[in-house]
Amino acid sequence: MRVGLGYDIHRFTAGRRLVLGGVEIPFEYGLEGHSDADCLTHALADAILGAMALPDIGHFFPDTDERYRGMNSLEILRHAVKAARERGYRVANVDLAVVAEKPKIAAFRDQMREKLAEAMGVSVDQVGLKATTNEKIGDLGRGAGIAAHAVALLLADG
Ligand code: MG
Repeated sequence: MRVGLGYDIHRFTAGRRLVLGGVEIPFEYGLEGHSDADCLTHALADAILGAMALPDIGHFFPDTDERYRGMNSLEILRHAVKAARERGYRVANVDLAVVAEKPKIAAFRDQMREKLAEAMGVSVDQVGLKATTNEKIGDLGRGAGIAAHAVALLLADG
């Protein structure tokens, strides 16, 4: 088995939709970024790539490449899972933590788990997801954006 860690953070900006874990969440701000800026999905993809000791998602989907502007980050996640499969590994389980002062995302938790599970080709009970605030500490605590942590456990086939 192999384990990987991922982390990502994006700042809020006006005039963009907020996409988190592949789910659009109604909010006054979206996240800034080249793709759809889904920091939760980015952290998860990096955890899977990390478990395989592969480079991070910026290596495969550089933000200087116009082809990836506004892209659905679930595609990035599918790419990471495919890269692992090609090397003989499958996702056993993942665990995720979202850090955000706002918006409240508890109501979207199961929807996000379903989206992420579907993109990875696993069942929902293999996707843990929790949310916390930053206890008003620092820029994140002032609501400047959203951060996400992810760990992924991969098992060798057969
Ligand atoms: Mg990112």
